Amino acid sequence: MQLAERMSRLGTETAFEVLARAKALEAEGRQVINLGIGQPDFRTPEHIVEAGRKALADGHHGYTPANGIPALRQAVAADIREHRGVEVDPDDVVIVPGGKVTMFFAALMFGEPGAEILYPNPGFPIYQSAIEFSGAKAVPIPLYEETDFSFSAEEVLAKITPATRLIMLNSPANPTGGVVPRAEFDRLVAGLEAHPQVAVMSDEIYSRLLYDGREHVSLLGYEALRDRVILLDGWSKTYAMTGWRIGYAVWPKPLAEQATRLAVNCHSCVNAATQYAALEALQGPQDSVEVMRRAFDERRKIILRELNRIAGFRCVEPAGAFYAMPNIAGTGMSARALQDGLLEEAGVATIAGTSFGDYGEGYLRFSYAASTSEIQEAMVRIRTFLASRG
Ligand code: PLP
Repeated sequence: MQLAERMSRLGTETAFEVLARAKALEAEGRQVINLGIGQPDFRTPEHIVEAGRKALADGHHGYTPANGIPALRQAVAADIREHRGVEVDPDDVVIVPGGKVTMFFAALMFGEPGAEILYPNPGFPIYQSAIEFSGAKAVPIPLYEETDFSFSAEEVLAKITPATRLIMLNSPANPTGGVVPRAEFDRLVAGLEAHPQVAVMSDEIYSRLLYDGREHVSLLGYEALRDRVILLDGWSKTYAMTGWRIGYAVWPKPLAEQATRLAVNCHSCVNAATQYAALEALQGPQDSVEVMRRAFDERRKIILRELNRIAGFRCVEPAGAFYAMPNIAGTGMSARALQDGLLEEAGVATIAGTSFGDYGEGYLRFSYAASTSEIQEAMVRIRTFLASRG
């Protein structure tokens, strides 16, 4: 068999490998605390599950329009109006099986040999993977601990060349928990006026998970960029629906049809029952969103305090999502060695910063979507592990 060369350029998401290894250790009788995988540890709220069940009972068993059922696209537009204060045409909304699909579609739409696409590093690993798969050059936007893992607009703008076609951005961010301040977005948007050919994909999947009164800044809110912003969002994190596989994008008008064509070629549509569940998520009671956010906030405070007590660790305060990304250079271990040691010897699953790009060396990502007692126990195990190594 001879595979296409592009297959050698496809990356992966190490979190799934760590999860598999953690499950294998558990099968051997070991008790592993999983602070690796990035998904809420809550069940999907019952009224949403019930809507999915009802959709199946009501006979929603067939294909739907490739871009999603009209009621759901209208509900997404209403949700964007409520939370972002922006009017969008439901026809520009494309429902897809997970937030991830939009980044892959965007990379395929803009990327090819000779093109350049900018992406955050450390960042969600699929950005770099999808860009390189497309044949485009993946140009990292470094994120630094010193600026709470925000990007510098000046640095982003300086990386734009005549070959640049797309910039991928993510705030609140995985893996850092960083939130980009409005002033930085303002500077970037002002600078982009000089580069009208450059599109922006704004991954706002954690937009509802913000702490300490931080406001969400959506790139969709900038009129100057309206005709070239792709908004990526979905249900996975806000409504604890990672396994349902549903997300959405708002595309600039001419691109919505292209995205729908990719959907027709790729997955036809999101399964019908999931779309009805997602509709209930947007239109039904919203209290569970705030209940989960508060629970994450409580855990965030605990993990931040505990991580900063570990000798060799230093952690800036994450303002969004459910991740903390301590600097672990003081332990003298590489990120990968520490990830492996903690998993194999201490039974704590975390993800090496290098899984999120080269700028992640010296860092470890903790997902705090776990109970407070699990977080406390994990910290004890880490301290014991490091102490045993002297
Ligand atoms: N974007 C970011 C930044 C993420 O962290 C994730 C999931 O971890 C996704 C998108 C993908 O979400 P989904 O599970 O809806 O595909």
